[in-house]
Amino acid sequence: MSIYYELILHAPEAHLFEVTLTINCPDPEGQVLWLPTWIPGSYLIREFSRHIVTIFAESEGRPINISKLDKYRWHIAPCLGVLKVHYTVYAFDCSVRGAYLDQTRGLVNGSAIFLAVAGQEQSECILAIKRPEEKAYENWEVATSLMPGKETQEWHFGLYTATNYDEFIDHPIAMGALTKVDFIACGIPHHIVLLGRHYADRERLQRDIGKICEAQIRFFGLPAPFNRYLFLILIVSQGYGGLEHRNASALICSQDDLPFSHDQETRPAYQEFLGLVSHEYFHAWNVKRIKPAAFAPYDLAQENYTRLLWAFEGVTSYYDDLFLVRVGLLSPQDYLDKLAHMLTQFHRCAGRKKQSLEEASFDAWIKFYRQDENSINTQVSYYIQGALVALCLDLLIRKESCHSLDTVMRALWQRYGLNFQTTGQGLGEQEWEQIAQEVTGQDLSYFFSQALRHTAEWPIFELLPQLLQAFGIEIQLRQQTGQHDKGGWLAKTGQTPATLGIRTCTENGLVKLTHVFDGSAAQIAGLSPGDILSSINRCRITDQNLDTVLKRYPLETEVEIHAFRQDELIVFHARLMPALNNTWGLRLVEGDFPIRHAWLNGKSDH
Ligand code: ZN
Repeated sequence: MSIYYELILHAPEAHLFEVTLTINCPDPEGQVLWLPTWIPGSYLIREFSRHIVTIFAESEGRPINISKLDKYRWHIAPCLGVLKVHYTVYAFDCSVRGAYLDQTRGLVNGSAIFLAVAGQEQSECILAIKRPEEKAYENWEVATSLMPGKETQEWHFGLYTATNYDEFIDHPIAMGALTKVDFIACGIPHHIVLLGRHYADRERLQRDIGKICEAQIRFFGLPAPFNRYLFLILIVSQGYGGLEHRNASALICSQDDLPFSHDQETRPAYQEFLGLVSHEYFHAWNVKRIKPAAFAPYDLAQENYTRLLWAFEGVTSYYDDLFLVRVGLLSPQDYLDKLAHMLTQFHRCAGRKKQSLEEASFDAWIKFYRQDENSINTQVSYYIQGALVALCLDLLIRKESCHSLDTVMRALWQRYGLNFQTTGQGLGEQEWEQIAQEVTGQDLSYFFSQALRHTAEWPIFELLPQLLQAFGIEIQLRQQTGQHDKGGWLAKTGQTPATLGIRTCTENGLVKLTHVFDGSAAQIAGLSPGDILSSINRCRITDQNLDTVLKRYPLETEVEIHAFRQDELIVFHARLMPALNNTWGLRLVEGDFPIRHAWLNGKSDH
């Protein structure tokens, strides 16, 4: 028996959706309804139920008692006939993770809007999206990867279906005046939908994203695991990110992240955006179908713990930019610069000495997704460190055998992903490592133990540089030249700069300390995140001149710093330290390196 949902754009100016849920056969003992507390792909308890404003139930025209059981569940008193539940949802989360509605556009993630019917989660879900009657909405269309009903034309308001609740909430829905760009990759129709004002070069998007999709489908093997794919791109003034779904990606970016038709070359912001596209698309295989057992199925009531997030987010982060190189959208040297930035980020994070990669995965819910000013000193990113471990593993396997990480990914796909829909089977916590060793015929146990379960720096600081050299890549480890130095090769390294060991931002024209690194001159002097820097040796400090002012003094100089904490002006005395040797540069060694060529071109054997 199907479950019916009717979605009404109740009051866009007040950001309210109205939903009517119709249950033909409610539980005779009383029906329980629930709403997910989190959205898969974003590992944080978000308590979506807090946005439900009003709710009431009726059966055959008579009101039925409804009461709250806990933070995410409701109980409806027993009734004999068809049960209807009407509720309103406040939708003002302009991200890819929740729900948003105003007079210009709407975005719905089912996890944030559609109540599940306890005991009937396997029933078919039928959604009717109602077109608003006002003239202002007459050019609105609907973009979703949900299956349209027989009578519903693509891009139209109307009926959409999903075979069960899990599938229902895995298809984002966008509404508004849409820009649509279509292409075919390996025979599969793909749609890029832009929502919001933009100046994007549509042909460029079509061509570049098409290349990425073709390459990834071929990487895992034809046919693609979907028969249609949708990229929903939400354009905002500031914001960046994405969320993966089984047949879609929801992306958020600014107008300037997209290519302009007059662009002579690929701007770095667009390169980043293509990396994001590549990342979310790769997830259609790695995490949406090859999954940790902890996510098969998802428990949407609470945290789902796994030590494997590095394998799903880190490995995906490794492949996202690598695919750009393989399809010619990123030059090998630009790719090495990106790797150097990652190595630098990892090196500067003191958290690497305190948290292992498995711990970072497990604690994503309370740490990575809830970062604060001290996170750089206490935790690692399973994206960055995970990608570096994946790089190291790939090079290690390639150097020692005719296999690669590609071999491992394809084996995981064949064993788990390909048949996930029928088996529902996810990877046990140890299985990723077992399969990697089995298919490559290599004993990687020491590598995995060091890279995943220890805070030892051996894999990244010792093994990886050796491997990179074997692949024809030159390494530079140098001092940070200033707080805006993200890493990359420097032809001239110059004199040792002095540093306070801080990161700052400008807020209302004032220089605010955002981070104070462990053991830094600033920390020893007593400065804290949140302090407003006013002067150094009575010379006014701005975000732009901080590095220049520090260059006036030799190392070990004691400087007087005036800073506000709350409203109080405090004087600190800091002894300037030499900048740490924590900045990496990578450069291609000239010459023919078949092993490097095979790696960057996606060939396992060399
Ligand atoms: Zn991801």
